[in-house]
Amino acid sequence: MAEEGGGDEYLFKIVVIGDSAVGKSNLLARFARDEFDHNSKATIGVEFQTRVVEVDGKEVKAQVWDTAGQERFRAVTSAYYRGAVGALVVYDITRKDTFHSIKRWLDELHTQCDTTFAKMLVGNKRDLENIREVSVEEGKSLAEEEGLFFIETSALDSTNVNNAFEVVIREIYEKVSRKTL
Ligand code: GDP
Ligand code: MG
Repeated sequence: MAEEGGGDEYLFKIVVIGDSAVGKSNLLARFARDEFDHNSKATIGVEFQTRVVEVDGKEVKAQVWDTAGQERFRAVTSAYYRGAVGALVVYDITRKDTFHSIKRWLDELHTQCDTTFAKMLVGNKRDLENIREVSVEEGKSLAEEEGLFFIETSALDSTNVNNAFEVVIREIYEKVSRKTL
């Protein structure tokens, strides 16, 4: 869904994937509304949130999709992935198992979606340094292996959350605008 609307408007569909409880919904809440939800209430019914950002003086609508709990049953639908041009693939730096799941999420993404221009590996909860199980180096080297951008974030204290989305949006923008020139 990389459509050029009227004038200088772009709409990019971006999906957030990764194991349950890694912080996907909170990353999105932080990016879209600058909020953090300590109780982790499931946002049932909310499929996506939109935030407008400016890239090179152009208005870009980032439509960011949240799995809203489907991932718990590994039952993310094909509609979720359809037309996505960007992806944030998230693990929790304090849970090694969520890092080991990344390859499965990438497989699913590649199977379901052949339109992604930009993918970011996100190690979330970096505020919990004292109970870290995945080193920065491990994250970096997986990202290099898989051709992904890499960043560590904290949805709790906001560290790098905007960055994570903005790098993806900028990369999509560059690829889309190059194609349409
Ligand atoms: P999701 O299942 O991937 O959507 O994860 P949630 O966004 O619902 O978050 C799961 C749990 O992790 C909740 O209890 C959040 O409060 C907590 N959480 C999310 N992001 C962070 C973070 O950056 N730091 C810390 N310390 N906790 C977080
Ligand atoms: Mg969630």
